[in-house]
Parts: sequence; C-alpha cells; structure tokens
Amino acid sequence: MPGHNPAIDRIRPEGALQVLDQVARLRAAGREIINLGIGQPDFDPPAHVIEATVAALRDGPHGYTPVLGIGELREACAQMMSARCGQPIAAARIAVVPGSKLTLTFATQVLANSGGAAGTEMLYPDPGFPPYRSAIAYSGAAPVAYPLNADDGFDIDAAAILARITPRTRLLILNAPSNPCGGGVTRAALDQLATGLRQWPQVTVLSDEIYADLSYSQDGAQLPSLLEYAELQERVIVLQGWSKSHAMTGWRIGFGVWPERLIEPLRRLVMIGHSCVNVAAQYGALAAVQGPQQPVAQMRDAFRARRELLVDGLNALPGVSCALPRGAFYAFADIRGSGLDEQTFAARLLAEQGVAAIPGSDFGAAGEGHLRLSFAADESQLRRALAGIARLLDEVRGG
Ligand code: PLP
Repeated sequence: MPGHNPAIDRIRPEGALQVLDQVARLRAAGREIINLGIGQPDFDPPAHVIEATVAALRDGPHGYTPVLGIGELREACAQMMSARCGQPIAAARIAVVPGSKLTLTFATQVLANSGGAAGTEMLYPDPGFPPYRSAIAYSGAAPVAYPLNADDGFDIDAAAILARITPRTRLLILNAPSNPCGGGVTRAALDQLATGLRQWPQVTVLSDEIYADLSYSQDGAQLPSLLEYAELQERVIVLQGWSKSHAMTGWRIGFGVWPERLIEPLRRLVMIGHSCVNVAAQYGALAAVQGPQQPVAQMRDAFRARRELLVDGLNALPGVSCALPRGAFYAFADIRGSGLDEQTFAARLLAEQGVAAIPGSDFGAAGEGHLRLSFAADESQLRRALAGIARLLDEVRGG
C-alpha cells in the first residue's frame, strides 16, 4: 500500500521542469549551457508592471483579496476578453489564479466524476503540454489523446477530435497556438467543432490560449477562439494569463474565463487551496491589462525574427526538418532522419554540446522522433545551439 494518495502516482514528471533542474546543476558545476528547454521569455516584464507591483507592495492593500481576484482586475480581464471575442463577458466569470496552469487543474477537478457511474473521459492533444494528461489522470478521469494535423503544421484537427467524443466525454482541451508544436487553429476547424459539439451538450471545452498574444500571422491578429461563439458561452473555459505575453512566468498569476455555472464549484475548490492570489501580483497584472501593449508587440517581433533564424537553421541540417510554428516560441523539429531517437538526441546534445532541448516524447507518444527547441533565447545563443546540433549530427554520421 502506498503511504499517499495513489492518484498522485498518475502525475508524470514534466520534462521541461526536469531539464531546468539539470541545467541549473550543470551551470552550478561551471558548465556553460544554452538552455532551449524551458518555455519562458528571456525578457523582463514591462517596466510599468513592475512599478505598479512595487507600489502595491509599498502602499498596500496587504490583506487577503476576494477568492477569485480583486474586482478591478476581474473587470479589466472581462473587458479585455469581451473586446477580443466580441461577446459580453461578465466580470463574474473571471477567476484569477496563481499561474494559469491552475485553470487546467481546477477545470479537471471541477469536472472530475461528472460522467457518473459510466466513467468520465477527457480529451487532450498529443503532442501536448504534459500537465494536460497528468491533471486528467489525477482527477480520476480517463485521458483520451487526440492527434494534431502534422501535415498542416500541427493545427487543430476538428474531425479527429469529434471522432473521439463519446457519451462519457466531459472535457475537451484545446491549445492554440500550441506547446510544443506551435500549431494553430482555423476558423473552419472551430466552426466544425462548434457544429459537432451541438450533438454533445455534456462536453465542456478548456481552450488554452496562454500564447494568444504570440501569434505570427501576417497582420499580427490573434487566432480565432471558441469564446467567440454565443452558443458556447456556458461551455467554454478559457485559460489565459501573463506568463508568456508579459514575461511573468515566476510571478505565478493568470486567469480563466469560466461558464457561470462552474464559478461556484470553482470558488469552493479555491477555498481549500490558495484562498486568493498574491495581492501585489494582482495589481501588477492589472497594470499589464490596462497599460501599454507595446512591450508585448516588441517581444512578439523579436520572437518572430528568431523563429525564422532557428527554423531555417534547423531545416538546413541533414536529417532534420521543422514546420514553421504559427505561434508560441517553440520549434518542434523532426529528427527522425538523424539516426538517433529523441531521448538519446536530447541527452547527447546536452552532455556533449551543452545545449538543452526537450525530447518530443515528453509531450506524448506522437512526439517521438521530435525535439522541442525554444526560441525564447537571443540570436547568438540560437546560432551556437544550431552549431552544436550540427556537430552532434556530424559525429553521429561519422561514427
Ligand atoms: N499552458 C501552456 C500550453 C503552457 O505552455 C504553459 C506554460 O508552459 C501554461 C499553460 C502555464 O503557464 P503559467 O506559467 O501561467 O502557469
């Protein structure tokens, strides 16, 4: 008998966080490492966000805030999301959380066991952000993977999703722009999903839009969202936050847009957890929403240029091919032509060349033969990383 809740053993370690630890150990031992493993911007948060947070720390308030966030922040998020999706979003539907990942955790917890005796299934993308599968499994629901359309840059494939929905399905997780593939979603795919979901009214959708501001479409426009569909307002949870758009990964703050019917169950869960989010961080997030968005655009432009550098560089290497990501800051390179599997490739790349990347299989079985490389690193680091990969490929071919 394990001495703890056996459901915890269904949570798998997250490769990106493990690699971060490994990199820290190697650096502490004096090795120079280029870390293309972790998914976080290499910029500072915008100055006005830091100023607002410092002012909040100095001047207060210092007490607990309302469970789902300070009123001003919930209102500001609601206005921002209403403007983005063209639907009226009430502030009462906004829940501020300590890191947007918690919207995932809470969504799976709130909907756990809702399938009753027949069982509960939850759908997630493979390749996908590893916590999706773990959070589903921990909740007691059966994780059901759906594939992405690899022939089309790993975009969301509505038919593949709809084919996997059953009477037991309670949650469908979507992610665009996606981690790890940089895939997107088209209006046609969302229309097809919205139509298909009419047949399955018991399904709630969790739309992970954490990379929404980092979309590299020609006009810089964000990808379409299911939150734009009036008929789905009571069926969609949107995962959002400032970790990626405002370089605030360590601040641990994000927010979700929830269907009204799930807000009360959510509030109860938060009550036995974090009670409320760090108050100063909430004022910082308020500044992020209300202040100038130019720093976000500058960061996006920098990532766009690096994306080209990295993807072109990868495609120039023998045995490597990489689709151009539509958003986020990851290249998901196909290394099947290299002669190495992705675990060996990543391990040797780190040990021999000092370049950290994440094996694709950490993101699901469909990620085998791939490597995720973050381009949230400066151009000289990207060039050196490419040179390291080229040397490794040379050695593999030579040996
Ligand atoms: N969703 C995806 C797809 C991510 O890649 C990440 C972070 O890597 C998150 C959510 C979580 O972000 P946060 O730092 O706000 O918890």
